[in-house]
Amino acid sequence: MRKTLRGLVPYKVTSEQDDVIRLDNNEAYTSLLSYLDFSELEQTLLNRYPAESTEALIEAYSKFSGFPVENVLAGNGSDECITLICQYALDPGDHVIVLEPDFSMYEKNARVMGAEVTTIQLNEDFTLPLDKIKAEIERLNPKLLLLSNPNNPTGRLYENEEIEALIGAMKQAGGLLILDEAYIDFAGESAFAKQVLDYENLLILRTASKALGMAALRLGFMIANDRIIEGITAVKPPYNVNTVSAQMGTQLLKKPELLDQFLIMQLAQIAELEEIMKEFAGRVPGAVLYPSSTNFYLVKMEGAQDLAEFLYERKIKIRYFGKGSFKAVRISAGTAEEHAKLKEALMNWSDK
Ligand code: PMP
Repeated sequence: MRKTLRGLVPYKVTSEQDDVIRLDNNEAYTSLLSYLDFSELEQTLLNRYPAESTEALIEAYSKFSGFPVENVLAGNGSDECITLICQYALDPGDHVIVLEPDFSMYEKNARVMGAEVTTIQLNEDFTLPLDKIKAEIERLNPKLLLLSNPNNPTGRLYENEEIEALIGAMKQAGGLLILDEAYIDFAGESAFAKQVLDYENLLILRTASKALGMAALRLGFMIANDRIIEGITAVKPPYNVNTVSAQMGTQLLKKPELLDQFLIMQLAQIAELEEIMKEFAGRVPGAVLYPSSTNFYLVKMEGAQDLAEFLYERKIKIRYFGKGSFKAVRISAGTAEEHAKLKEALMNWSDK
């Protein structure tokens, strides 16, 4: 392994038995699989490389999202998009800024490219330490600043003016701001979607894995101006999105009303989860429940690890974070039945 990569730990992928309630990965708790027309898949050109299918997918995503076809690239999940962005933008030794906490794949991909990663802690309430970030941008002239908005794992949506200020600061520095909007559907409209092409140095990342309920298909999208799209196209493997995923994704993206209803249903479940989490946090001395614009809630608390283990013994899987003194659990929205079981287990734990 390359010297610079020593200490790199794999992203933890876990498989589960069918009877485990999975509230640990911020996925949708159900999917629109039953709305797919599988007879269409019988026409799949299994012997051909994917070309037409990717074109159709991008066209469908363009119609669905409003971004022009020429300014959208698809990836094998937004995970691959992050990799491609780093390959496009980073030479060894280049500076990259990421926030903490935030999605861990930003730092990992930057490090794999041999970049110098500077991590900036969010404020105590998970707002942006804007002056600090601006000062670091000025000092380091980073090639990339990557951040999720709303943030995973905090759930917080930043102020538009703050993002705007960071795009401006990165422009001055000659770098790109990567705005990962994986969870934006739960938060409402993105203020930057309409203007993304007007910026020289903004790239928006989207995914079909969250509100659209297609995590298994691995479909992510990059949206940026012509110059950036052209550059990323040059590093992208030609057939990075497989035909079956593209076909399934295309079919569902062509059903915007259905996807809308699917989102509304999830929002109701998120509201239900919020009530459960409020009640739970109220029963745990010192626990802090953070406001969320996503499909999950984060609670900072003593005993976070014990809670995660207690729930797992009861076949409910949640995500535990324990970096240094920061101890928290993150719980994604589930079905009404899953919530009932979650609530019972949470109350039992807090009664202990
Ligand atoms: N960005 C953020 C903020 C995420 O939380 C995730 C998945 N947890 C991803 C990107 C990657 O999503 P995918 O590769 O499924 O599109």
